[in-house]
Amino acid sequence: MTKINLSELTIKKAHDLIHDKEISCRELLSIYQENIKKHEKNVHAYLEVFDDAFEKAEEEDKKIMAGEEPKLLAGIPLAIKNNIMIKGKICSAGSKILENYKATYDATVIKKLRDEGAIFIGRTNMDEFAMGSSTENSAFGPTKNPYDLERVPGGSSGGSAAAVAQQECLAALGSDTGGSIRQPAAFCGIVGLKPTYGAVSRYGLIAMASSLDQIGPLAKTTEDIELLFNAIKGKDSFDSTSIDFDKFRNKKSTAKIIGVPKEFFSLKDGGKEGLDKDIAANIVKTIDFFKDNGYIIKEVSLPYAEYSLPTYYILMPAEVSANLARFDGIRYGFSEKGDNLLEDYMKTRREGFGKEARRRIILGTYVLSEGYYDAYYSQAQKIRDLIKKDFENAFKEVDVLITPATPTLPFKFGEKSGDPLAMYLSDIFTVPANLAGIPAVSVPMGFIDRDNVKLPTGIQFIGPWFGEEILFDLSKKIEYARANIY
Ligand code: GLN
Repeated sequence: MTKINLSELTIKKAHDLIHDKEISCRELLSIYQENIKKHEKNVHAYLEVFDDAFEKAEEEDKKIMAGEEPKLLAGIPLAIKNNIMIKGKICSAGSKILENYKATYDATVIKKLRDEGAIFIGRTNMDEFAMGSSTENSAFGPTKNPYDLERVPGGSSGGSAAAVAQQECLAALGSDTGGSIRQPAAFCGIVGLKPTYGAVSRYGLIAMASSLDQIGPLAKTTEDIELLFNAIKGKDSFDSTSIDFDKFRNKKSTAKIIGVPKEFFSLKDGGKEGLDKDIAANIVKTIDFFKDNGYIIKEVSLPYAEYSLPTYYILMPAEVSANLARFDGIRYGFSEKGDNLLEDYMKTRREGFGKEARRRIILGTYVLSEGYYDAYYSQAQKIRDLIKKDFENAFKEVDVLITPATPTLPFKFGEKSGDPLAMYLSDIFTVPANLAGIPAVSVPMGFIDRDNVKLPTGIQFIGPWFGEEILFDLSKKIEYARANIY
């Protein structure tokens, strides 16, 4: 068997090895499973490692031995965030209320990946119902950051990000409602894409806030991200908000003019209040790199973007309160009995949901209630439109926007978990793209020394609607030149 350096293995390289019969799908899987055995007790990226993965790998091997051309994802071990349904597997969304809930069907993305021969190696840990930025809200204990076990991996797709970073899978799927793919990708030193809203079907994703949720890939390289995005995108009759990407694809696939939103990053001061100084310095290096390579850097203004977080924290809980109403102890999962039906509901929900889920359900119910709807929910909808218009205007002047992915380095456990507002600020750079429905990618931007540990950072590119290819192009430029930039 060929010797493999996992940290350099990409989907394409693995495919070539499988294709050339240098390695079998079972052998590849077992290398990852060995790594899981070695690291899981420290990292806790998975809620479950599937014991049928080996059989699936064997099936792929048999096809190859019978002379079939392996498909691009044949035998590729992928980890799946546990809010994406895999038929017959527990799908808990990180919540006690769904602790034993078994998915009765495959999400569309799963079906697509399965058809391409991908192997699902396990289901990954996450903040309960994808609410959080650290995985500390998981009902099953947190995931640790592989770069420093005292620090969070980010969230809510923290399990997926840590699994990729620790070489416990080749790539993973996550979901992003306000940053849950990009922020953990940045914290774990990998690439993470939130696609354009509608580019990927949400059928079979346990809904958090349906107008913001998107499924997307996390991987070590942009090439892998692109490959997975192409495998999962597309219109789906089971999700009426999904759109035929190829039909609406942005005409541009490369950028010439890169915009720096002054509300996020001041070119003059080389930073912003609340933004880590070392992250700011790396942003400056990135901008200089693009300047040196002939790109035009232009300051743009997104005047309403500063209202993104307050807008998000009204609209998102409103949708959360509606989406989570179905978990009542009668239809799914965990159930507690009271003296009557209402008590059944109350007991089930009080004990089944964690603190953050309850907080958001209460907030959401409040902003939707009679007398407050106009003051909160409908105002926030209007601001959301204005934020969208801000981006429309910006993309008339520039091809793409550049911002930090996160304001801070990966933080320590407990550092923000007692202060919801501090935690919510982790999403300051990522939330606007969800509100506008536009694509955004987080790409590793070098390491920063903190307390004698090298911690990863991420840069974010935000593109116009269906402009994923522009993001891939810039992201690859950074990847190829990384060693010289930082
Ligand atoms: N951290 C954000 C939140 O808690 C984003 C979550 C997400 O994208 N799912 O809402």
